[in-house]
Amino acid sequence: MTDISYHNHSRFSDGIDSINDMVQAAKTAGLAEFGLSDHWVVTPFADPEIKAWSMAHDQLDNYIAGVLQAKQDYSDSSFQVRLGLEVDFFPENAAVVVAALGDRPFDYLIGSVHFVDRFSVDISADTWAPLSQERIDDIWRLYWRRIRDLARSGLYDIVGHLDLPKKFAFYPTVDLRAEEDAALAAIRDANMVIEINSAGLDKPCAEPYPSLSLLQRACALGIPVMVSADAHRCPNVKRNFSAAYDLMARAGYDPDTRWRFNRRQRLTSRRA
Ligand SMILES: [Zn+2]
Ligand SMILES: [Zn+2]
Repeated sequence: MTDISYHNHSRFSDGIDSINDMVQAAKTAGLAEFGLSDHWVVTPFADPEIKAWSMAHDQLDNYIAGVLQAKQDYSDSSFQVRLGLEVDFFPENAAVVVAALGDRPFDYLIGSVHFVDRFSVDISADTWAPLSQERIDDIWRLYWRRIRDLARSGLYDIVGHLDLPKKFAFYPTVDLRAEEDAALAAIRDANMVIEINSAGLDKPCAEPYPSLSLLQRACALGIPVMVSADAHRCPNVKRNFSAAYDLMARAGYDPDTRWRFNRRQRLTSRRA
């Protein structure tokens, strides 16, 4: 069984370890492929907290040089390093933000929604606690529309942590199945991959992103899936992987299928 993890962070954004230390940890843990995907966030509004977790905008080429150097230093016949980026989707500027990345040699871009308008869905439970249930429902509804629009933009390869607003266990009480299904249909139409993000198991929601129900529907639509750790430190490079693969199987997927990306081309599945 080969393990691959494409969603991971280094010190260039909100991770605590260096690129080389993360890559070495992944190699030691026996992963077959490891990708860095540090945060690239260009908000269409001023947000003083962004600096705490997004890559500084003048560091992009240093980040790329660091990952490419690690690729040279650590890759061998049984281990591959990939260059990714986790890019925040905002409908106001997504096309401009991705175009500005130019022809830099990314293997994949993860598109993520951390903000619904100006509300940050995953920063702290304290931002959710004072909200009315009606407002919570609205945030979820808008979130699914953002995911749909992210997919429709055609700008990214992988959808990050599909149902992220559940992180602090504030759930909608209205039926949002139509919004969820519209997002899933857009993901399928855009030929994107979704991740089973195993970090969710360590959060108050206590399960991977996305839920079994969403994953079952994604499977029925034929949307490819990949397991990733969303590691921000070395010990987490393979966290909760057996639970994530169990979930993949329970949703109806063949848990031995692996998808990979090279220079933004999705490679054919490979049985582990
Ligand atoms: Zn994220
Ligand atoms: Zn992340």
